[in-house]
Amino acid sequence: MHGYHASYRLIDLADGSCRDVPLKPAVLQKYIGGVGLGVWLLLKESRGNYDALAPEAPLVFAFAPLVGSALNTSAKAAVLSKSPLTHRLNDAMLSSGFALAGKASGADAIVVKGACREWSTLFVEPSGTTLRPTPELEGLSAAETETRLHEEWGEEWNVISIGPAGENGIPFALMSHDGRHAGRGGTGTVMGAKKLKAVAVKGGRPTTVADSSALAEIQARLQKNSLGAATEKYRTTGTLGNLLVFNRLNILPTLNFRGKSTEEAQGLSAEHLFREKKVHRATCADCMIGCEKRVTGRDGKPVRMEYENIFALGSLLGIWDADLVLEASQLCDQLGWTPSPWGARWPSPWSASSGVCWICPTSASATARFSSTPFAKPRPGRTTGSCWRWGRGPSPNGWGAAARPSPRR
Ligand code: SF4
Repeated sequence: MHGYHASYRLIDLADGSCRDVPLKPAVLQKYIGGVGLGVWLLLKESRGNYDALAPEAPLVFAFAPLVGSALNTSAKAAVLSKSPLTHRLNDAMLSSGFALAGKASGADAIVVKGACREWSTLFVEPSGTTLRPTPELEGLSAAETETRLHEEWGEEWNVISIGPAGENGIPFALMSHDGRHAGRGGTGTVMGAKKLKAVAVKGGRPTTVADSSALAEIQARLQKNSLGAATEKYRTTGTLGNLLVFNRLNILPTLNFRGKSTEEAQGLSAEHLFREKKVHRATCADCMIGCEKRVTGRDGKPVRMEYENIFALGSLLGIWDADLVLEASQLCDQLGWTPSPWGARWPSPWSASSGVCWICPTSASATARFSSTPFAKPRPGRTTGSCWRWGRGPSPNGWGAAARPSPRR
């Protein structure tokens, strides 16, 4: 069938076994797209009620028929699981090389079940699947994990991985590939519960196209539109441009949702950042729009900035210093968690400016160290963010054991 391999790879992490399971054309036609196929697979591979973090919980990486076709913005992977945050079906999308290599590995989807005995990395390629123990990667950020795997196994592997937040059960952990994140709903938490630090994919197995000249025509039209007025905002300011638009519309989340607009938003705006900072544009594979904006902070390191970072770690918390927002965004990337739940769960940034550690507010020793910044950094020798884990000790917003919501079935 054109556009598909017509099978998915099912992997049991408990023993590393894997098999290719055929997909019928009727299913592929009915559940089109990565999310459509992923939902079908998630339901097919689920057995009754289960906790989102139980070993039997399936985790699905699905690839649409257009992935690998070179159509603009088509290099997307859909990640599906039951969410540890909502206890409902969850999907998150991630762009770029992981999607292309995952599809070229010879499967329309990769489905993992079970849990590894120790921290491990799954390698998927056309000739098969290998599960390797990689305990040495524990504690590394996703970016560091990618670098280490490239150094050891070669640059041709495309890696998706979790950071310390996913390892420690933080419910809003994400998974990352090449600085892009599948962030919604705690995907990284599910991966961490399986002790799966990373999935690496590579391959050279393309799918076929029914009518290449028709596809080329569509691509030419799409290309023209991608460089036209409709996408100009994304090419120039990216999603950062939303901040002042939402501020004008009186819908900008401000001061812990107490406000809707403020003059101080100017200091966090795309216009301000572009004027005051070094910003460079980046793009995912197979995309001409290039909405990504990487902003260089005080420490000289570029950090990818989106509207989400700016509102959740800036206006929502009443923090108007762009450098602090950049610093907090870097911390999110380092730990591997999503900015918006972090910002939205925090009741009072003003408690932070009084010198309380954001990672471990209960620790007195943290107070002096972090008194100058609202955003704490991980302390050496400490399991980062472990106090935020459900069921472990006190946490800032009553996220301890007593506050954990019961899983809804
Ligand atoms: S660069 Fe932006 S528009 Fe292009 S695929 Fe990536 S996220 Fe989408």
